[in-house]
Amino acid sequence: MNTSECGFNTTLLHGIAADYPHGATHMPIYQSSAFKHKSAKELEDIFTNKSLGFSYTRINNPTIEDFEKRMTLLEGGIGAVACSSGMSALFNALMNILQSGDEVVASAGLYGGTVELFEELEAFGIITRYVADNVPEEYEKLINENTRVIFAETMGNPKLDITDIKAVADIAHAHKLPLIIDNTITTPMLINPLSLGADVVIHSSSKYINGNSDAISGVLISGGKFKWDERYPGLLPYKKFGPFAYIAKLRSGLFRNTGGCLSPQNAFLNILGLETLGLRVERQCQNALELAKFLVDLDDEFIVNYPGLESHPGHELAKSQFGAKYGAIITVRVGSKERAFNIMNNLKIPYILSNIGDTKSLVLHPASTIAVHLSKEEQFKSGVYDDLIRISVGIEDIEDLKKDFAQAVQNKEDKENGRS
Ligand SMILES: *Cc1c(COP(=O)(O)O)cnc(C)c1O
Repeated sequence: MNTSECGFNTTLLHGIAADYPHGATHMPIYQSSAFKHKSAKELEDIFTNKSLGFSYTRINNPTIEDFEKRMTLLEGGIGAVACSSGMSALFNALMNILQSGDEVVASAGLYGGTVELFEELEAFGIITRYVADNVPEEYEKLINENTRVIFAETMGNPKLDITDIKAVADIAHAHKLPLIIDNTITTPMLINPLSLGADVVIHSSSKYINGNSDAISGVLISGGKFKWDERYPGLLPYKKFGPFAYIAKLRSGLFRNTGGCLSPQNAFLNILGLETLGLRVERQCQNALELAKFLVDLDDEFIVNYPGLESHPGHELAKSQFGAKYGAIITVRVGSKERAFNIMNNLKIPYILSNIGDTKSLVLHPASTIAVHLSKEEQFKSGVYDDLIRISVGIEDIEDLKKDFAQAVQNKEDKENGRS
């Protein structure tokens, strides 16, 4: 079957024409740390990249490779490396090309953990400059002779600002710089950043890719088109691998030597989760749009931030770039921190927890949790306010979610001591 002519859901299910042992319908979990070989020569060939095969699970493993192939296909790349977490994927994607003295230009509304990672990198002589407003010209202003990479999220979490990927990729390439895009929030269901010019895509696959919130993991996918020049000395010995230079350097260098590999069990859970990615995200986007509109009407005091609303500054860009789907994260400013806490405590359906992309709806107060280590200015740049609630919309029946938000907003009783 030629899946390249198929739709997204068919590709999720049948995109990898696999022949698994004993007619199994899933790739088995190869719960093995290492792989034995018939001869010393055979293992030598694997270690010297003369033949393909498996040696040690920190480097690769059949179950993990199956997950990587699926992500490569879904993002339209040439190769992928699965990692122990989204943070590990970010670290590997960036540090595979950066060295002391280099600079990063990054979008402003980034995930808090990513901002903290950039702070960690300062100790290694790597500086990050943030664009003030997520518009293409702002990126160009911050590029100087030390810049080595541009980094952005398709949609900032939790700011929900929209990156014009094609325009930013054009600016990056005009300066011979690669563009790395975090596609966690939008997933390949809404967009393939590589097709718009990005060079590497990363995911926290802990979120929508896995979908059920049962495993932490990350993955990076390479487009293979970027031409590495002498400003990337670490890549030069790998240029003989052509488009695979970036992936080859990772797998025989930083990735294997820092050890942030995925576990076969978690790769398997991601493979299962991927089968329903299309159905889940479709429903989550529908639910989110309806809930966002409902929240706008629910209380005059609310400031609802959702790219699907015409009032959102990035609405038109999101509409064209993401195929009229807007993701499933909503943020709402409700007037005060006390009111935010009270609404969260009065909700019966959404869980109060720090995560996104679950089948279940989730609520969080970013200012006191994921953004608590950021300065007030950094919080402001990330679109975090004291009165802001972030909602990750799940696949529940929308009428139940609306009813629940209505009662929680109207209920003024203070549930400070938690839900019963
Ligand atoms: C969660 C998240 C990460 C970090 O991923 P982990 O799997 O938690 O390490 C990175 N980027 C974005 C946009 C995220 O939402």
